[in-house]
Amino acid sequence: SKPPVTVAVTGAAGAICYSLLFRIAAGDMLGADQPVRLKLLEITPALQALEGVVMELDDCAFDLVESIDIGDDPNAIFDGANLALLVGARPRTKGMERGDLLEANGAIFTAQGKALNDHAADDIRVLVTGNPANTNALIAQRNAPDIPAERFNALTRLDHNRAIAQVANKAGVPVSAVTNMTIWGNHSATQYPDIFNAKVNGEPAFDAIGKDLEWVESYFLPTVQKRGAAIIEARGASSAASAANATLEHARDWLLGTPGGNWTSAAIPTTGAYGIEPGVISSFPVTEAGGEASIVEGLEINEFSRARIDASVAELREEAEAVKQLGLI
Ligand code: NDP
Repeated sequence: SKPPVTVAVTGAAGAICYSLLFRIAAGDMLGADQPVRLKLLEITPALQALEGVVMELDDCAFDLVESIDIGDDPNAIFDGANLALLVGARPRTKGMERGDLLEANGAIFTAQGKALNDHAADDIRVLVTGNPANTNALIAQRNAPDIPAERFNALTRLDHNRAIAQVANKAGVPVSAVTNMTIWGNHSATQYPDIFNAKVNGEPAFDAIGKDLEWVESYFLPTVQKRGAAIIEARGASSAASAANATLEHARDWLLGTPGGNWTSAAIPTTGAYGIEPGVISSFPVTEAGGEASIVEGLEINEFSRARIDASVAELREEAEAVKQLGLI
């Protein structure tokens, strides 16, 4: 059988991981023939709860799981990791300013970046789900100078999947008919879901929704941008299973590849493509193969899209400037 892949996951006792870990262990991420070693990180007060999660993983007797290690030291947990899923982050609590949030997460992601730099396997790939995900990924990346910059991604796949679901519903087609969706920018309320380059049954998605620009502007964009808040309102807790699913799909496509003719959305270090200069981690349309992501070049960006992409990238540059001022990068 194949040699195992070592997967490190942080925030392992949290809500997203309560869904994510079981699906990784079942083979949904890397395939039904790929053994895994799980290395799970938590903060010290959550280690007891994590022991309970491990008991449940044990009780599933998943064939693909070769070992499970837990701990609160990133140096030990990231040792030998081929893939690191950084789910744990400090959530915004009442009365917390944005600067406080960036600072609290800065402490976490500087330490984790250094630990990855010093201990992860040479082929390490790092995906940040914990918010503010793009800037947390930037902090980790800048604190890991020996790891190629493009090995750090942030999650916008959930936004991508949400956008597909909304277009399918509006066009009256199954989600499988919607392809070539793109999320641009930051994983925040400024993110831009691009319907103009998306397709429904291979035809322009904008035509399939009756060229209804009013729907795009007043319903589609805000619904995708504010979906997280709507789920909290309805469920009394933030999205967890769908965030886990998106984390898993991002990692799967990154390592195993995107299907031909389609692309996905991933926040990756900017390169100058689409006029977006280097220095932040922003979402783009990407194709992936063998652990490498390539930006899909040459898409037409209309005026409506350009203004919104630029605004979201400007927000990312402000966040990067703020963490620079804090001495985190
Ligand atoms: P969740 O598992 O629900 O969420 C974890 C992170 O994912 C949060 O930052 C959250 O951001 C983010 N997230 C949630 N939904 C989405 C989404 N739709 N798209 C992208 N990101 C999303 O939180 P819990 O509080 O249940 O669990 C967090 C765990 O992390 C706790 O057990 C805590 O102890 C742990 N932790 C571990 C650390 C470590 O390993 N060193 C460090 C810090 C925390 P948002 O807050 O915006 O919803």
